[in-house]
Amino acid sequence: MGIIKTKGIVIQESNMGDFDKMLTILTPEYGKISCSARGARRPKSALLAGTQFLCFGEYLLYKGVSAYSINSCETIEVFYNLRMDLDKLNYAVEMSKLTYSVTNENENAYEILQLILNSLYTLSETDKNMELILAIFKLRLSSIIGFRPNISECKNCKSKEDLIYFSFKDNGFKCGTCGKIDKSTMQILPSTKDAIKYIILAPPKKLFSFNIPDNSIKELSIIAKIYLEDKLSN
Ligand SMILES: [Zn+2]
Repeated sequence: MGIIKTKGIVIQESNMGDFDKMLTILTPEYGKISCSARGARRPKSALLAGTQFLCFGEYLLYKGVSAYSINSCETIEVFYNLRMDLDKLNYAVEMSKLTYSVTNENENAYEILQLILNSLYTLSETDKNMELILAIFKLRLSSIIGFRPNISECKNCKSKEDLIYFSFKDNGFKCGTCGKIDKSTMQILPSTKDAIKYIILAPPKKLFSFNIPDNSIKELSIIAKIYLEDKLSN
């Protein structure tokens, strides 16, 4: 019990009673926590801005016996553009749902928090292809939560050449010969292969600093979707 001060992003909100809210906030040190925000829906509440969905801020929380409640908050970034554009908002909602599903309370979430903040920032502040942003988010998230695809050699014969397949069964690249006999593979363009490598290896701040042609975005998007769904269903 006591007061804690933490940064965090609101990844889920729901109304409670006439004026209150229940929030799920992803924090770096305490992981995903639920907290109540008393009076947050009153028009003049000091908590009004900082308790909105997708707001990133600094929170002063009171930790009770079974739950947290918000004492005060200061907004750092509200991602205003996401609220003004329904397409962007839909992508942001999907990312926040995925973030919710892979995080827990009392589990360090620094890397995941950094990923969702960078992704939301790119979505909000740039015109980058939204499918590409989502695919990058999903693939990097898979890697952070322990499912880093094998990108250095063919999983089967260890060849480093001719890596033209992505295998879902064997989690990564396969060569032209081995890939043909694995029924879970998808053939990929060289630009898609390079993009997958980049997404796994890039430093967090450079994660979105590349572009690929539309047909590659399509492939990457399919791979990221199937790969993450498969990992989350196991
Ligand atoms: Zn091979």
